[in-house]
Amino acid sequence: MRQRPRPCSQQDKLLPRGAQGLPEYDRGACPDHLVTRRQLRAREVSPGGYGPVAILRCAQCRTRPWRSCTHRTRAYLYDLRLARPKRVPTLPQEWALDRAMAARQTCGTCRRRYFHCLPLKTLGSCLECFDGTPADPATYIAPPATHLLAA
Ligand SMILES: [Zn+2]
Ligand SMILES: [Zn+2]
Repeated sequence: MRQRPRPCSQQDKLLPRGAQGLPEYDRGACPDHLVTRRQLRAREVSPGGYGPVAILRCAQCRTRPWRSCTHRTRAYLYDLRLARPKRVPTLPQEWALDRAMAARQTCGTCRRRYFHCLPLKTLGSCLECFDGTPADPATYIAPPATHLLAA
């Protein structure tokens, strides 16, 4: 059974209002551009590299404006105007995809990477390496300069 949030009490650490150096707002009296982590997630945005800019006060402390507490209904607020869309897919996923594509597009003989997939399963290399059919230079990226890697 889900526990109802208990009202703030002696168990919650009492704080003077503003103790964390951030403005504190009450539910319903909070500027529209300030949202909680959960609301950011619901909008599929991230804090954009910025930390919280304000605090949403505990609902019970609303009637005691002179103090705050660490009750769990207290939440950090983030500025929606600083939020950024989440990257989809993430960078590591893009790299993994690119590695998979590179394996299918790179000739093992001449190390050129083509913009199309190669018949590696049947020929084992690009057409030029297989039977001398010259490859259009616009269809591949020159192989990495090996002397630079060796240095
Ligand atoms: Zn409270
Ligand atoms: Zn080749």
